[in-house]
Amino acid sequence: MASRRSSGDGGDGDESPAMRRLRRLSLHLLNPSSSPSDQEPEALALAACAAGPRRVQGGAEVSASLAAYLRGRHRETQARVFEFFQGRPDLQTPVEMSTAAHRDLCFRQLRALVRDAGVRPLSLMADDPSEYFAVMEAAGGVDISLGVKFGVQYSLWGGSIINLGTKKHRDKFFDGIDNLDIPGCFAMTELHHGSNVQALQTTATFDPVTDEFIINTPNDGAIKWWIGNAAVHGKYATVFARLILPLQGKAGTPADMGIHAFIVPIRDLETHAVLPGIEINDCGHKIGLNGVDNGALRFRSVRIPRDNLLNRFGDVSRDGKYTSSLPTINKRFAATLGELVGGRVGIAYSSVGILKVAVTIATRYALLRQQFGPPKQPEISVLDYQSHQHKLMPMLASSYAFHFATIYLVDKYSEMKKTNDEDVIADVHVLSSGLKAYITSYTAKSISICRESCGGHGYAAVNRFGALRNDHDIFQTFEGDNTVLLQQVAGDLLKQYQEKFKGGTLSVTWNYLRDSMSTYLSQPNPVTARWEGEDHLRDPNFQLDAFRYRTFRLLHSVAARLQKHSKTLGGFGAWNRCLNHLLTLAESHIESVILAKFIEAVKSCPDEKTRQVLKLVCDLYALDRIWKDIGTYRNVDYVAPNKAKAIHKLTDYLSYQVRLVARELVDAFDLPDLIIRAPIGLQSEAYAQYTQHVGF
Ligand SMILES: Cc1cc2nc3c(=O)[nH]c(=O)nc-3n(C[C@H](O)[C@H](O)[C@H](O)COP(=O)(O)OP(=O)(O)OC[C@H]3O[C@@H](n4cnc5c(N)ncnc54)[C@H](O)[C@@H]3O)c2cc1C
Repeated sequence: MASRRSSGDGGDGDESPAMRRLRRLSLHLLNPSSSPSDQEPEALALAACAAGPRRVQGGAEVSASLAAYLRGRHRETQARVFEFFQGRPDLQTPVEMSTAAHRDLCFRQLRALVRDAGVRPLSLMADDPSEYFAVMEAAGGVDISLGVKFGVQYSLWGGSIINLGTKKHRDKFFDGIDNLDIPGCFAMTELHHGSNVQALQTTATFDPVTDEFIINTPNDGAIKWWIGNAAVHGKYATVFARLILPLQGKAGTPADMGIHAFIVPIRDLETHAVLPGIEINDCGHKIGLNGVDNGALRFRSVRIPRDNLLNRFGDVSRDGKYTSSLPTINKRFAATLGELVGGRVGIAYSSVGILKVAVTIATRYALLRQQFGPPKQPEISVLDYQSHQHKLMPMLASSYAFHFATIYLVDKYSEMKKTNDEDVIADVHVLSSGLKAYITSYTAKSISICRESCGGHGYAAVNRFGALRNDHDIFQTFEGDNTVLLQQVAGDLLKQYQEKFKGGTLSVTWNYLRDSMSTYLSQPNPVTARWEGEDHLRDPNFQLDAFRYRTFRLLHSVAARLQKHSKTLGGFGAWNRCLNHLLTLAESHIESVILAKFIEAVKSCPDEKTRQVLKLVCDLYALDRIWKDIGTYRNVDYVAPNKAKAIHKLTDYLSYQVRLVARELVDAFDLPDLIIRAPIGLQSEAYAQYTQHVGF
C-alpha cells in the first residue's frame, strides 16, 4: 500500500513545525499501512478538534510564504489602492444606500482613484495590461460597482478607442478618458439583441453630401439597452451600428457593410444636457450593481463627422467608398469583437477576487463558529464537520486553481498585445471565453453556498453575501453570456480537431490533443483503471490524463454525433441537438487547462514547504472534480468501481487535510479588512465587531 505522505515529503528533517503538525495530524487520522477505506476518520477528527478552533503551529509562516508566492507582480499597486480608500472613509460604501446615492458615490470613488490617487488606468492598459487588471480587481474589492464602472470607462469605452480606432482617435480622446474628463459608454446591446451582435439594427448611414454618418434607431427593438454610464455620467458613447453606404449595393441600392463602431457625443461637455436627437432613459433599479448607471438610448437621425468611425478594420473615403484590409464582413466582425476580449479577461480575473472574499468570510466564520460536539466535551468548530469541509474546502481549492489560471490568462493577454501573434490571439480569445464562463458560473454558485454555510448570520447584509451574490450574478451574462461563450470554446475545439486530422498545427493550449491523440483514442487500460493507491491518485500525471481523456472522449464523440445529425438536421439543427454535449466538452477542456496551470504553479513554487501545501490543495481540486464527474469516467471504464471508491475516500480525506490549513490558506489571499468588511469574516474580534455593528 502506498505511503500516506504527500509526494515530495522528505520526512522530519527540515520540516517546519506547521508541516510537521499537519503530517502528524494526518498520521493520527489514518495509519500509514491502511487505506482510507478501512478507517473511521470522522470519529478521530472530532476528538482531535474538540479543543475548539486552533491555528496550526507555525501557521503565520505558512500564510506568509504562500502569500509571497501568490502575490502577483502588482500587489504593491493593489496595496496602494486599498490604502488610499482606507484613508478615505467618505468613499467607503455603506451597507444600505439609495440607487441615486450609490451612483454618485461610485462616480466619486472612480474620480478620486484617478485624480487624487493618481491612477491612470488607460495608460496602464496600454503599457502593462496586467497592472491594469490588478487595479481593476482592487477597485472591485472596494465595491463591485466601482470595479464594473471602472471596466465600463476603461475596458469598454477606452478599450474601444484604443483597439478599434486609429491614431486620430487616440490623440483626441486618450487623455480625456484616462483622467475621467470624458466619461463614456459602450453601446452595443439593444432591446431585441444582446448575444447575437450581428443582428443589431441601429444604422449608421453615410451622407456623402455633408461627409457625415447619420446614426438612427429604426424601431423600438433597436433601442440601445443596459448601457453603463448612459443614465447619468456619460458624455460620449461608442455605438455599434450597421454601416450603410448609399448607392454602393447591387444596382445602386444601399450596401450594408455590417457592424461597425462609431463615436457619438451624447451629452454637452459643458452643460451635461442630453444632445438633440438623442433620448436617454434610465434602466432603473437593478437587483445588484446599483452604483452603475445603466441607461437606454434612442437616436433620431443624429449626425456625426465621418472621422468618428472607429476605422481600424474598415474605413469610408470622402467619396463614400469602403476600404478594409480584411476581405469579408465576417472577418471584420470577428476582428472587431476579437479586440474586445480585454473586458472578458477583466471579468474572469475580478470574479476570482470575489470568490476569494466569499470563501474567506465563510472559512473564517466556520473556524470561529462552534456548534455541538462529543458528549460532555467542548463544542467543535463547524468546519470540523465533514459536511462543512465538503462544502467549503473544494471551493477554497478552486480559488487557488482559478488564481493561477487567470494569472496565466492575463500574461497571455499581455503577450498578445505585445506580439500580435495570430496563434496567441486565437488562444486568448478561446481561453478568455472559457475561463470567464467557467469561473463566473462557479463563483455565482459558490457565493450562495458560502451564505448557507454561515447559517443565519450569513443572511445579515453587513456580512456581505447578499451584495456579493447580487453584484456578481450578472458577471455570468455581460461581456458574453456564459452559454454562448462556452459554445465558442467547443466550436474552436472542433475546428482544431478537424485541423488535426488534416495534419495542421494546434494552438498552444490545445497541444495536449495532438501529443496524446493515440493514447486517448485507445481503450482505457483495464489495469490502471483499477489502480487505487494514494501515490497514483495524487500523481499529477494521472490527474491530468483523466481530465484530458474525458475532454478527448467528449470531443471525439460529439464530432461523430454532429456529423451524423447534420445529414438530417443541417448544421444548425445538429449543433442544437448536441448542445449540452458541446457545453460539457467546453467545460471539461477549461477544467483541464485550469488543472494544468495549477500543477505548473505547484511545480514552480521555489519553497518546498509552501509547495507541499499547494500540492495538497491541487490534489483536492483535481480529485474533487474527478469525483464530481465519476459517472462519465465509469461509463467509459476509465475508472473501475474500486478506484472510484478510493477517489471518493481520498477526496474526503484531502478536504480534511486542507481544513487543517484552511485559516492559513485564506490568510494567504492577503485581503485587508477593508475588502473583507463582513464582521464575521474578520481575522480577529469577529463576534465583537458584529455585536458593535448592531449597536451593543
Ligand atoms: C447590469 C448590466 C450591465 C450591462 N452593461 C452593458 C454595457 O455597458 N454595454 C452593452 O452593450 N451591454 C451591456 N449589457 C448587456 C449585456 O451585455 C447583455 O445582457 C448580454 O450580452 C446578454 O444579452 P441578452 O441580455 O440579450 O441575453 P440573450 O442573448 O437574449 O440571452 C437570454 C438567454 O438565452 C440564452 N441564449 C442566447 N443565445 C443562445 C444560444 N445561441 N444558445 C443557447 N442559449 C442561448 C442565454 O444563455 C440566456 O440564458 C449589460 C447588461 C446588464 C444586465
